[in-house]
Amino acid sequence: MARCPICDAAVEPRSANPSYPFCTARCKTIDLGKWLNEEYGIPVPDAELDDEDLDALAEAASKKSEDMRH
Ligand SMILES: [Zn+2]
Repeated sequence: MARCPICDAAVEPRSANPSYPFCTARCKTIDLGKWLNEEYGIPVPDAELDDEDLDALAEAASKKSEDMRH
């Protein structure tokens, strides 16, 4: 089973995990924030991004900005 690149937890298979390759949406958002801050516009190198993932990243980015307001 894959491991989350953020927290090293076990990651559910892609078919059962909308946050794949991360364990949760939280870790996905953490990773998104990392690469947005460090290398804006450069996707996560190890991730196989498709359109669905890019949509999810955009969604995570909007959720992240909401979280920062709490
Ligand atoms: Zn994780």
